[in-house]
Amino acid sequence: MTEEMRWTLDALYDGFDGEAFRQDLKKCDVLTEKFSQWAKGNLTKEEVIRHPKEVLEEYITQKQELSRVTSALTQYAALVSSAETGHAAARGYLESVQKKTAVLAGVDTRLAACLTDLADLEGIIGQSSLLTEHRFFLTEIRRLGRYRLSEPEETVVAQLQVTGSRAWAKLHETLTAGLSVDIAWEGEQKSLPWTVVRNLAYDADPAVRQTAYQAELAAYGKVEEAAAACLNNIKGEVITLAAKRGYASPLEQALLESRMDGGILEALLGAVRDSLPSFRRYFRAKARMLGHGNSLPFYDIFAPVGSLAGRYSYREARDYIVRHFYSFSERMGALAEQAFDNRWIDAEPRRGKVGGAFCSNLHAIRESRILSNFDSSFNSVITLAHELGHAYHGLCLHQESALNSRYPMPIAETASTFCETIVTRAALRTAEPGEKLFILEKDLSAAAQVVVDIYSRFLFESELFRLRESRSLAVEELKELMLQAQKEAYGDGLDETRLHPYAWIAKPHYYNAARNYYNFPYTFGLLLALGLYAEYQKCGREFVPRYDALLAATGKNSLADVARIAGIDLYSGAFWRQSLSQVVENVEIFVKLSATGGQTAG
Ligand SMILES: [Zn+2]
Repeated sequence: MTEEMRWTLDALYDGFDGEAFRQDLKKCDVLTEKFSQWAKGNLTKEEVIRHPKEVLEEYITQKQELSRVTSALTQYAALVSSAETGHAAARGYLESVQKKTAVLAGVDTRLAACLTDLADLEGIIGQSSLLTEHRFFLTEIRRLGRYRLSEPEETVVAQLQVTGSRAWAKLHETLTAGLSVDIAWEGEQKSLPWTVVRNLAYDADPAVRQTAYQAELAAYGKVEEAAAACLNNIKGEVITLAAKRGYASPLEQALLESRMDGGILEALLGAVRDSLPSFRRYFRAKARMLGHGNSLPFYDIFAPVGSLAGRYSYREARDYIVRHFYSFSERMGALAEQAFDNRWIDAEPRRGKVGGAFCSNLHAIRESRILSNFDSSFNSVITLAHELGHAYHGLCLHQESALNSRYPMPIAETASTFCETIVTRAALRTAEPGEKLFILEKDLSAAAQVVVDIYSRFLFESELFRLRESRSLAVEELKELMLQAQKEAYGDGLDETRLHPYAWIAKPHYYNAARNYYNFPYTFGLLLALGLYAEYQKCGREFVPRYDALLAATGKNSLADVARIAGIDLYSGAFWRQSLSQVVENVEIFVKLSATGGQTAG
């Protein structure tokens, strides 16, 4: 493999032993100590009431300085470690910097307490340009600070969670990671890891997919009681804490932390419900292609359909992406060019490197780094476009303060999905019918996961929270709840007798006590990106500056205000329906193509 497929991190540091890294490490210690000492003497209710402007300005100045150093150090160690997982020094530095900065959580708790008691925050912000720049940052701390318990209470909660929800989550992880599945494999009875068997859902052989599904379902019996205990106890803790903190419900908490509200969620879910009949048409067409009559069994949801013979060299992938990014704007094209040509990307698959792909935006040096495992397939071209979308988001945030560049989960995948859409649409325009079927199906399958499957998870979690309020749920009830949710979401698209009653064990999201309803943000992200793409189709180049302004504002506004920058009203069902109408159109094309081109698929 050539050097051009490996990233260079020199712009960050020239190594752990280099002068620059060692100096920043020292600086991190000095600044952390300075910040906590300062907070002890100055970040008190009395001082904040006496000199609010000065104290808040000092907090922001120190926090920014510290944030530059700590993020550069941790990102560097994390990047080295992901490209070389056995790098002991990288892991060591990562842990030690995280430990050093953990003490700063106490400073933020103090700030929240001070801000909650401050009478005229708006008036104080208005007196200073630095504070005005950080208006959202400060008001959000105050807004969420209302739900914080007292400092000693928070400490006890954090300590008890180690043996509570976090321990239960750890147990769930251990159970699933260690779960072995007994399966008839190549003529003999074998015991395979659970993750390996779940991946067989993508196998080209229908018998393999079906056998894997049956074996997977049978295996859950071994852990169902323990997994149900994990889920009941985690959700029980969440309910207790949310009530103590003053949230109306765990859903209200999830919405507030996502910077949105129930009105937006209802508009989104209404459009989702309206789109379900179309998705069911897609599932039924796929079922017919695979010879299932008129409804798809759960185990064929991910079955490959059609094929794509085309292979891409890394150079070809580069040229393809750069060309289509330029079709959107100079700035986007130049970003992609810079990322490829200045070696921001580690695309070479090799031993000792983490799997999958990610993008890390390095605000400290105004650059990004992308890790992927490029295998010359069309999918891996799309993956690069996706990650470059994250880098573009980073580029738009570079001129913002570090404290204004953190955005919530629902908007995290918008820029990446947008770039994916640009490249996928371009590929669809030039594809042969057989390839078109493959690309469309891949796109619809992904959208169905984010819209239909996520909807079933939302329904399940809502019912779970409602019932858990008063009691624990038995394994049979959890299975029944999941089946009901899947029936309501998938309707006659899936075969009712072959669903997935154990999806609550398979998906780890339900077990994260800090992130409840970790489902609707995915739908929000996809549909916002599609809605923005529809706007782009309508307005052409005139849309570009609005898009850039929207991305630049993602770290310092509510989601409704972010969208308003591009002229979008998130409370309007019409906006979400317009996003979904693109999927609906693709379903119609797919249904037609599948009727003629489906014979060879399997
Ligand atoms: Zn992503």
